[in-house]
Amino acid sequence: MRALQTLRGPLGICAVIMLALLLSTAVLAPLLWGDAAEATNTSDLNAPPSAEHPVGTDALGRDLLLRTLVATRLTIVLALGATGIALVIGVVLGAAPLLLGRRLGRIVIAAVNIAVAFPGILLALFMSVILGVGEFAAMWAIGIAGAPSFARFCQTLIAGIVERDFVAAARTAGQGRVRILIRHVLPNIAEPLIVNATIAAGSALLTFAGLSFLGLGVQAPAYDWGRLMMEGLSRIYLNPLAALAPGIAVVLAGLAFTLSGEVLAKAYAVETLPGAVSGARGRMRRLRESRAHARSAAAPGDGSDVVLEVRNLRVSLPGAHGAVSAVRGVSLTLGAGDAVGIVGESGSGKSLTALAIAQLLEEPLRVEADTIRFHGVELTEPDRTVGAKRTRRRLLGASLAMVFQDPMTSFNPTIRMGTQLAEVSRFHGGMTWKQAREQATARLGSVRIPSPEQRARQYPHEFSGGMRQRAMIAMGLMAQPTVVIADEPTTALDVTVQKQVLDLLTAMRRENGVAVLLISHDVAVVRQVTDRIVVMYAGRIVEEVSSDDLADAARHPYTRALIAAVPDMTTDRDAPLATIPGRPVGPADVPAGCAYAARCPFASARCRQDDPALAPAADSADPRHRVACWHPVTSAADVERAEAPVPTAALPITAAGERRS
Ligand code: SF4
Repeated sequence: MRALQTLRGPLGICAVIMLALLLSTAVLAPLLWGDAAEATNTSDLNAPPSAEHPVGTDALGRDLLLRTLVATRLTIVLALGATGIALVIGVVLGAAPLLLGRRLGRIVIAAVNIAVAFPGILLALFMSVILGVGEFAAMWAIGIAGAPSFARFCQTLIAGIVERDFVAAARTAGQGRVRILIRHVLPNIAEPLIVNATIAAGSALLTFAGLSFLGLGVQAPAYDWGRLMMEGLSRIYLNPLAALAPGIAVVLAGLAFTLSGEVLAKAYAVETLPGAVSGARGRMRRLRESRAHARSAAAPGDGSDVVLEVRNLRVSLPGAHGAVSAVRGVSLTLGAGDAVGIVGESGSGKSLTALAIAQLLEEPLRVEADTIRFHGVELTEPDRTVGAKRTRRRLLGASLAMVFQDPMTSFNPTIRMGTQLAEVSRFHGGMTWKQAREQATARLGSVRIPSPEQRARQYPHEFSGGMRQRAMIAMGLMAQPTVVIADEPTTALDVTVQKQVLDLLTAMRRENGVAVLLISHDVAVVRQVTDRIVVMYAGRIVEEVSSDDLADAARHPYTRALIAAVPDMTTDRDAPLATIPGRPVGPADVPAGCAYAARCPFASARCRQDDPALAPAADSADPRHRVACWHPVTSAADVERAEAPVPTAALPITAAGERRS
């Protein structure tokens, strides 16, 4: 609505009127006056302006006003053609990093940046000399000359879109790069591109007039405004209007395009104001319910049928002094129907682990592993053939689903919900659109979205935050996956919706036998839906323990601190909330020895020297319980010490003299 108001403003009205006049002249003038503009009159050659010929006549006695009006069509068509060429080439070049990968894409973008440094008119002249004279050669010359600036603009727009979760989800679903570009990226950059193209059309018009004026553009007997200006210039002192009339037409048409572009840009900016986007995140709260409820609701698999096996996964990223390790030797196994949680503070490497498993990390991040085996297919082996690549893509797309933290960025805002869900079945199930849409509606209903038929016809912004998250899970289930990786799926949701999403994950396991890998910083949330919990710190696993036994059996001081940091119904409200002193270690600052030593109340000289290996926990009844600690917490006194609240005054002082929290 606010965009409409912008169009109704004085500038908008002016732009609309000018553009309407220009386009109607382009359409009607050749029909109404085409023959009259070609009619020669030997008795009235080079006549000055008069009542009969307001702008005079040319050397063959043809009326110059009519010729100027008739030339509108060719001038506009050629300018729009040149803009279209610039737009298409620019989009292809700007999408190079997406289509060709970062390395090749960077080379293309470097070449584009060099081309942008040349003034457009010089580039157009240069291309025109290469391509030869004539209107079509000039159109291509101007189009090619305009492409670099479009390419740079597109590259910036595309870079902002490819980071969004719905593009990652499309990748996980096995969609190819061209399809992602056409289906998910271009619709989201269409508006600013059109605005830019409208403004560029004005510039193309001026450049075309310039080339025709120089004799490089339109050739006789055809004529555009530039050619009319060139012909009128020879009599500028006798009849200045002969050159001025097409010149004024060029200025007015350029102004019409530029004004329209400006108004569109303003309207577009109004539409995309942050406040105009619905679905603001709800405030994060913690949910803590009894473990008994989660245990009775869950139906874990027996773990005998391994669907995912990860051994010694490493992820590194470039740092100031060489590569730094963000994930250090993570190993985990997921059986059919299993539910494993990965917990840890921000920067612990849990999300990177999930993205590496889903094959969603790209350069400059480097992923290495002894094995990442998904349904028996080794994902660490390079795709040597197109067939192998396709098979792997199909396997991941059909059997692995990702649920991201922010459902607003997980959906393509320009496509209806039902269509987005149906695409998965179309792509992987080979269904017709009708069947896929029916399944999409059924899936929306199965995740307890009311009026699913109506909701399927709506866009993502028309869904509430909780509904979007459930729709994301429904989309994950469209291809009937065997593994769902949920990365902080409840972080942005309020308590009620959080519970609905967790119940849904539990129901998925029970009803579909889907294995769940749940990533969260919230131990309480993870405990409700998982069988085992993997605790990560500074990029490595420091403990793996049964969810049921977490509170009683956790041995690592960091795990104990995480448990203590979540208040429950028995927490003393008068006592200070437990906190973990200090800050998590960044990938570039991992010290020698145990990375947790600086924050650990049990740290010894040995801890600061040697990093403990992840080994079976001594005296644990659970053979799968593993812990990496030289002094695991075993006695009640140790538990109390590990979970004791840290008074602010006791927090260590940073190098900058600030008290850490
Ligand atoms: S190894 Fe030492 S510093 Fe590390 S968690 Fe165990 S006791 Fe603490």
